[in-house]
Amino acid sequence: MHTETQISINPEFLDNEAEILRCISLQMGVESNRIKHFSLRKRSVDARKRNQVVYQLRYEVWVDEMPENQSIFELPQQNVSLKKEIYIVGLGPAGLFAALKCIELGYKPIVLERGKAVRERRRDLAALNKEGIVNPESNYCFGEGGAGTFSDGKLYTRSTKRGDTASVLNILHYFGATADITIDAHPHIGTNKLPQIIQNMREKIIECGGEVRFDTKLTNVFVQADKISHIELNGNEKIATDTLILATGHSARDIFELLHNNKIAIEAKSFALGVRVEHPQGLIDSLQYHCDVRHPNLPAASYSLVKQILNKGVYSFCMCPGGIICPSATEEDGLVVNGWSPSKRDSPFANSGMVVEVAVEDFITKNPSPLDGILFQRKIEERAFIGGGGKQVAPALRLSDFVSGKVSTTLPDCSYLPGLQATDLRNVLPTFVHKRLQEGFRQFGQMMKGYVSNEAVVVGVESRTSSPVRIPRDIETFMHPTVKGLFPCGEGAGYAGGIMSAAIDGQKCAAAAVRFLVS
Ligand SMILES: Cc1cc2nc3c(=O)[nH]c(=O)nc-3n(C[C@H](O)[C@H](O)[C@H](O)COP(=O)(O)OP(=O)(O)OC[C@H]3O[C@@H](n4cnc5c(N)ncnc54)[C@H](O)[C@@H]3O)c2cc1C
Repeated sequence: MHTETQISINPEFLDNEAEILRCISLQMGVESNRIKHFSLRKRSVDARKRNQVVYQLRYEVWVDEMPENQSIFELPQQNVSLKKEIYIVGLGPAGLFAALKCIELGYKPIVLERGKAVRERRRDLAALNKEGIVNPESNYCFGEGGAGTFSDGKLYTRSTKRGDTASVLNILHYFGATADITIDAHPHIGTNKLPQIIQNMREKIIECGGEVRFDTKLTNVFVQADKISHIELNGNEKIATDTLILATGHSARDIFELLHNNKIAIEAKSFALGVRVEHPQGLIDSLQYHCDVRHPNLPAASYSLVKQILNKGVYSFCMCPGGIICPSATEEDGLVVNGWSPSKRDSPFANSGMVVEVAVEDFITKNPSPLDGILFQRKIEERAFIGGGGKQVAPALRLSDFVSGKVSTTLPDCSYLPGLQATDLRNVLPTFVHKRLQEGFRQFGQMMKGYVSNEAVVVGVESRTSSPVRIPRDIETFMHPTVKGLFPCGEGAGYAGGIMSAAIDGQKCAAAAVRFLVS
């Protein structure tokens, strides 16, 4: 018999095979000596019951028989150096997965990336963290691997309808992520491991005959007879092409301006805006696991909070347990924060975005433009920059002061390297966001007693949650409705929100581009 079963186990038995076998045998009502093999398929932490945190484990089990040879994932690959070319702009998760899909389908991807390769990019991030200098072409958003490289590397999507998540996890495992990502309910890679995985992906693209060009910025697109005809790179190189996958991310504001100026339709869309909040990790562990000290087999605890406040969603976003808050602006006079964590999630801090829904009517101006959302974001990022006093020093308040409307006289320790400045965040955030955040935190404090702590700090601003612009595309062909051969792709185009969904969208756009070329 070959079947599946689920067991609950205390964290101290997580690695204890004999105890796991005993639990499987008990759960299935089968004597343990008849169980010839068992293999872990899904793992999650269940902290719903007070004082009894358990692991839920789903096993594939073989009774009275041994498993046949298990299939091993093989990356579909071939040499495409002499095949028809497909241009992809942006080497983020969407661009990377689009390039691999092109190879699988027998096309040669040529990827153009404005930023630098991972190793050189690291130097720019060091300068950003130490000296507060933003390089507009090389930062937490731009460069090899896009915003995904120095991210937290959480690999889940809120939507289960997006597509083949298993294929993305298998590919990331093939390139070096641990097998844990294929079994964990909330898979996570970590900032220390992502750069090597992304470099391995780029090397495979090149080994298969694809091309990757760094320091290569798309600066114009030309359309003739409603079709893509040429692209311009770095303001001086013109290349003829009939197919373009545009995967430039939500921070490529110049791309949105370029499309708008060229009368290629784009639309304003809703997004979310708020702050990052950071607590001591020990406090979150004790609130979530109801214990003084976390068991070493348990991961740093996380939370997910959501409330409707005055008809708008207020919710936690991109939580990084055991993580670090980082400066992720792309403009020199703006300040944006985000978060990441290492694979072990072992920093003493837990941070999370806490954001409020922003609808188009919240920012649209009297002379409406699809770029209004960018103007709105930029204004707030500039206020945050000034509020912190420059050099990426971030405006911040103790969480308890933020909720009670006071300006803190001192601030607690925080992981954010460029430093903090106590600032009244009413001068930074729009009133409709500030008010809802205050009330949201107050209500979250009732749900998790101790959450609104004097030791927690609120750091401004979390403004790049998703793109404020959508580049429209046909639901079937994935092509722009008025420009044949143009495939808006990934988070920047408004079709993804995170690494997993961007990767899946990259695969879909590449498949659509191939369908277009063979039609
Ligand atoms: C610090 C941080 C932590 C994050 N943590 C997580 C997480 O844990 N889990 C998660 O799911 N998501 C996370 N995200 C978000 C995630 O990284 C993005 O959703 C994802 O990277 C979007 O993928 P993308 O390929 O669509 O765009 P991007 O990753 O933004 O990539 C776009 C690429 O296009 C390039 N580009 C832009 N303009 C041009 C141009 N004109 N010419 C050439 N190239 C151009 C950029 O340099 C960039 O490399 C995080 C983001 C940040 C910044």
